[in-house]
Amino acid sequence: MLPSPISGTPARRPSPKKIMETILVLAHTENGGALAKSAREALHAAATLHKSLAGSKLVVGLIGENVQSAANSIAACPAIKYFGVTGADFSQSRYATDAAAAEAICKAAQATVVIAPATSRWARVLPGVAQRLGGRADTHVTGAAVADGKISVNRWYYRQRMEGVSTRTQRPWFIGIDPGSQTPCECGAGTAAVEMVAVNLTDASKRTTVIGIREPKADAQTIRPDAQLLFVTGAGWTKKQADGQTHVPEAEKLILGFLKQSRASLGSSKSLVDLGGEGQAVLPFLSHLNQVGQTGATPRHAKGLSTCCHGEEPHTVGWRFIGERRAVNLDPNCGWARGKADVLYIADAFKVIAKVNELLAGGKT
Ligand SMILES: Cc1cc2nc3c(=O)[nH]c(=O)nc-3n(C[C@H](O)[C@H](O)[C@H](O)COP(=O)(O)OP(=O)(O)OC[C@H]3O[C@@H](n4cnc5c(N)ncnc54)[C@H](O)[C@@H]3O)c2cc1C
Repeated sequence: MLPSPISGTPARRPSPKKIMETILVLAHTENGGALAKSAREALHAAATLHKSLAGSKLVVGLIGENVQSAANSIAACPAIKYFGVTGADFSQSRYATDAAAAEAICKAAQATVVIAPATSRWARVLPGVAQRLGGRADTHVTGAAVADGKISVNRWYYRQRMEGVSTRTQRPWFIGIDPGSQTPCECGAGTAAVEMVAVNLTDASKRTTVIGIREPKADAQTIRPDAQLLFVTGAGWTKKQADGQTHVPEAEKLILGFLKQSRASLGSSKSLVDLGGEGQAVLPFLSHLNQVGQTGATPRHAKGLSTCCHGEEPHTVGWRFIGERRAVNLDPNCGWARGKADVLYIADAFKVIAKVNELLAGGKT
């Protein structure tokens, strides 16, 4: 109780204002008008918050050339309203038009919390939109929850070594959900009424033109975030073997053969991807994008198999989100043997992978 400055009688401390949150799920459509799995993951996170937050509203905002089929595909979700910004100008990723569209939807929805998949398209736009609206943005969020009527988010710091939980009072609060961190929403289809939001674009906002997309051929694409298995290759594949010789062409054949049959995602140690820059014999399908670890990626897969990789800390720190870990190494004292793998096979990876490929070709999994 505080003393009242006028009468001297105790005055009541004003109770903190309870925010009735309007949770907006903001997504863009893919080529062809569908919603990506990452958008369904964001929807799942938002619907879970909405369920735990009394008095909250859940709404959806969609941006793309045409959003009706995307809205219909999630029509059975608990959202009470759908907003859309459509047209050829919004079909592809472009900062100026995406930011204008996102801003217009946030205003139309009067959103206080904006949950969006952290796709490359949204990740570069949404912090700017938060700035325009006087809000705040959190990126790389891997979890969101409600406790005592307050929303909190989880994210990892210091190269995935520490997990932090934070909350904010500033609104609107933009929350970018890391793809692969949530269960995708399984809400069914139906017919959704989409309220179109007009966006006035200036010519200046359309200066950037997308003239095409350069990407590896489907069978050359070795990074597969949705794969069950992460297959990691280390520098050992290019080192001299028991016969005193290197066997790089054989390594290439074995690794590509395994990837083709298992559909695993390919990760690598830093040493192996760095070899190219050092003018040594290399595996041509590997780039720094494959690198896992402290200065590389931290992929999410149910299982991981490491081959010819020593398992040093700067590498294994990138395995934080790998469920079951196995490694094949000739050295019984390698890093994997020190509590970093669930199973370590002391074996020659050339022989092991040749045998595994043979079994896979014979239909054994
Ligand atoms: C600041 C910093 C950041 C770093 N960031 C990263 C990072 O992000 N990612 C990363 O990977 N590294 C990183 N490193 C480097 C890391 O410390 C290691 O040097 C690197 O991971 C070693 O790669 P490797 O295990 O492939 O090679 P090596 O250490 O050369 O190990 C090769 C392994 O292959 C085994 N081998 C050889 N032949 C066979 C065979 N026939 N069958 C089975 N096993 C075989 C050997 O026993 C050996 O254990 C970083 C280092 C620093 C200092």
